[in-house]
Amino acid sequence: MKQRKFLLTEKEIPEQWYNIVHDMPNKPLPPLHPGTKEPIGPEALAPLFPMELIKQEVTTDKWVDIPEEVRDVYKIWRPTPMFRAYGLEKMLDTPAKIYYKYEGVSPSGSHKPNTAVAQAYYNKKEGVKKITTETGAGQWGSALSFACQYFGIECEVYMVKISYEQKPYRKVMMNTWGAKVHASPTNLTEAGKKILAEDPNSPGSLGIAISEAVEMAAKDENTKYALGSVLNHVLMHQTVIGLEAIKQMEKAGDLPDIVVAPFGGGSNFAGISFPFLRLNLEEGKNIRCIASEPASCPKLTRGVFRYDFGDTVGMTPLLPMYTLGHTFVPAPIHAGGLRYHGAGVVVSQLLKDKLIEAIAHDQLECFEAGVAFAKAEGIIPAPETNHAIATAIREAKRCKEEGKSETILIHLCGHGNFDLAAYENYLSGNLEKHEITSEEIEAALAKLDTPVI
Ligand SMILES: *Cc1c(COP(=O)(O)O)cnc(C)c1O
Repeated sequence: MKQRKFLLTEKEIPEQWYNIVHDMPNKPLPPLHPGTKEPIGPEALAPLFPMELIKQEVTTDKWVDIPEEVRDVYKIWRPTPMFRAYGLEKMLDTPAKIYYKYEGVSPSGSHKPNTAVAQAYYNKKEGVKKITTETGAGQWGSALSFACQYFGIECEVYMVKISYEQKPYRKVMMNTWGAKVHASPTNLTEAGKKILAEDPNSPGSLGIAISEAVEMAAKDENTKYALGSVLNHVLMHQTVIGLEAIKQMEKAGDLPDIVVAPFGGGSNFAGISFPFLRLNLEEGKNIRCIASEPASCPKLTRGVFRYDFGDTVGMTPLLPMYTLGHTFVPAPIHAGGLRYHGAGVVVSQLLKDKLIEAIAHDQLECFEAGVAFAKAEGIIPAPETNHAIATAIREAKRCKEEGKSETILIHLCGHGNFDLAAYENYLSGNLEKHEITSEEIEAALAKLDTPVI
């Protein structure tokens, strides 16, 4: 009988996170102060994050212990299943073997609780009473709401106003877990008031919401801020995914030739791929790790590698990353989680060193791939996830042309059950192909006055 599902027991939930910085041939460059442009140390982050997370942000230790309390909460949905995609293989008539690791079984439906739970735990341990954050599509806000509720911390979410209006059920989800959700920009912060004074009907943006959440955390000593991607500690928390996937691949008697994941700030890509990259770096394996991004926000494939701000306003430290410029405003495509101008520092350095690959897809190709996946495998993927599926389908077709039986592992990092409005648009033919022009990219990059590397 063909085995379809590869499961692990609770005991096999990893006991440590993997920190790839230890094994990187070129270590990431230091963050710079936004004003002086001099390198800053970890103490600069103390007003916003608990000490343990700041330590994790800068450590070069190869393995970091996962606290028992965190593993205990992970047990609600971990280990997550890995499947062989027989249906998709058949549909594509490909000799490639396709597997997917499914993070959509978490309470909020994506990989994000893997770090939300860890972050809430360390905040609780250091006596923090309240955490503020921003959310665009709502995935991160809901993951953090769940985690804060679990550890008895107040959670306040600044949700981009346009998403707040378009995705009412994400808000209800956050409220159910006890979080307070504001449509950003608000009248509660100086940043929000300033924007509203200029434009009372502002639809908001991730950059504005970050400014509001950071301001609230900075002015109250019992309040901290949490970020759902980009930072080193966030990427590291997600490595439970790849560590489990390696064990599951062993059970399947296989090893991927290709690992593919969608790319917003880099956390789910890092989560599944870094443990496999370790096999490349340590054992000389040759596993291709591919990050799939939207053609409308192509920082990895068409951006520049230089210092840039993490937010739109320019309040955060300057980080060395692939970027389209912090003032770049991506088109309102449906994969809200991928609409970010920059990329995590560690993934950026790995791409610079050609240890990983990147590819861009327009949203029509992605939804076509997502619908094919839903028909073949049953699960309706998140619009973000569809990017990785599009890449996998291209690779599977290449395998067919070349007559090769390569093994492809897709990161199915979330389900799309709250994103059906996007599917409705696609199915009724109202979704447009969107690729950014070279002129638009040049215009965004021309505005950058941050340090060149
Ligand atoms: C948030 C999110 C992403 C993008 O963020 P990364 O940090 O790059 O992972 C991708 N897919 C889903 C389902 C998400 O919720």
